[in-house]
Amino acid sequence: MMTSRNPYTGKELKQFEEMTSKEVDQALKTAEITFQEWRKTSFRERADLMRKAAAELRKNETEYAETITQEMGKPITQSYAEVEKCAWVCEYYAENAEDHLSQDTIETDAVKSYVSYEPLGIVLAVMPWNYPFWQVFRFAAPALMAGNVGVLKHSSNTMMCGINLQKIFERAGFPKGCFQNLVIGSKKVEEVIRDKRVKAVTLTGSVGAGKSVAATAGDEIKKSVLELGGSNALVVCEDANIEEAVKICVQARYQNTGQSCIAGKRLLLQESIADQFLKKFRKKVQELKSGDPMDEDTFIGVQATVKLAEDLEKQVNQSVEAGAKILLGGKREGAYFEPTILTEVTKDMPVWKEETFGPAIAVMNFQTDQEAVALVNDSEYGLGVSLFTEDFQRAKKMIPQFNEGAVFVNELVKSDPRLPFGGTKNSGYGRELSFHGIREFVNIKTVYFN
Ligand code: NDP
Repeated sequence: MMTSRNPYTGKELKQFEEMTSKEVDQALKTAEITFQEWRKTSFRERADLMRKAAAELRKNETEYAETITQEMGKPITQSYAEVEKCAWVCEYYAENAEDHLSQDTIETDAVKSYVSYEPLGIVLAVMPWNYPFWQVFRFAAPALMAGNVGVLKHSSNTMMCGINLQKIFERAGFPKGCFQNLVIGSKKVEEVIRDKRVKAVTLTGSVGAGKSVAATAGDEIKKSVLELGGSNALVVCEDANIEEAVKICVQARYQNTGQSCIAGKRLLLQESIADQFLKKFRKKVQELKSGDPMDEDTFIGVQATVKLAEDLEKQVNQSVEAGAKILLGGKREGAYFEPTILTEVTKDMPVWKEETFGPAIAVMNFQTDQEAVALVNDSEYGLGVSLFTEDFQRAKKMIPQFNEGAVFVNELVKSDPRLPFGGTKNSGYGRELSFHGIREFVNIKTVYFN
């Protein structure tokens, strides 16, 4: 049995009975039959339906946004923004998939040779609760446009979102079986990956879950894409526009109540501006409005579960025991964790070494650019870094030295349908979104005429 619980009120919302192996088998049968027809459809037909999915998201945005907020505590305005972003990715791929997957003619010794991009079949998506719509759409929009069909294993605590996601594709008019939500726990994932009809798997979530899914996929010689955690740094150089940088850094760390893989979790300040920056930063963080996630003026909600807030509390307390100072916040009540700033952080502390998945930031100072680069790279993760400087030459020198999937200059690291998204090291492999994302789950077929 899986339970959806409102993390703000603590009230149970719904219980779900797990699907039996027979029911999963039936879903895969439906998916396989649908795939044989779906793969023959034109890009135009797929694009029409994908645009209808975007329209459906907008038409019933309140229903969808409220489900997100109730189930995982995201402030409601941020839930609306998430639904809108899903519509954007649908439209982006409706517009661009054909171009991204058009045949590439290549001059060789052949009379004609080219590469075509063909669908694989059923792709399993194992998805998390933190952006319970967006993470799924950024997989589903390119995968379906490429001619694949999708089955979703959503987080056990966001099954209502999972049910809604299937409903969106059905309401948009996609053939039954193009996108199905499997009501299963993580223990059943292995069985699904090993099923011969399933051709590939993508996972967004923790390193542990990623390792387990990739090991099974590897054992079955099936393609996998992993989008795991991150411990992004925000690097503020002395020549940065301080007012702007403060604003962006607050957003980078505290939006979605800090529960984002690409959040800026480590704040690196050049010594000469550290004090003035921190003063302004602290003031802005203090002004963030905590409260009922259903209220429109709430910016900080609760964490998605009490356990997540407890995990953060442990990381913060252990870091304080090791010598960190609390400049702001630091306390927990149920699933709520105060927006927190920790200074005097050292490299042996959990808030530096580990991913913190909530509203707490670890601050450290640096003197030289070399030092900043070394600190950024001092992480098991490699999803992205934000660099704040007005000197583009300085930025250009530093960019190749970061071992990261993305470098954003004077901006927070964010996902955008037009840009590839993914990491290095423990942040995973493969890319989502853009031209690169849609080519992850295709058979790159070489064709040679002589
Ligand atoms: P998990 O990685 O446990 O959950 C993400 C998804 O993976 C869920 O659908 C989950 O299913 C599934 N899953 C978990 N373990 C396995 C497994 N062994 N085999 C197959 N599927 C599995 O994340 P949590 O919710 O437990 O969060 C823990 C931490 O993970 C966070 O604190 C954060 O550090 C990181 N995380 C990162 C995210 C990101 O965006 N990169 C998103 C969410 C979490 P089920 O719910 O049924 O267990």
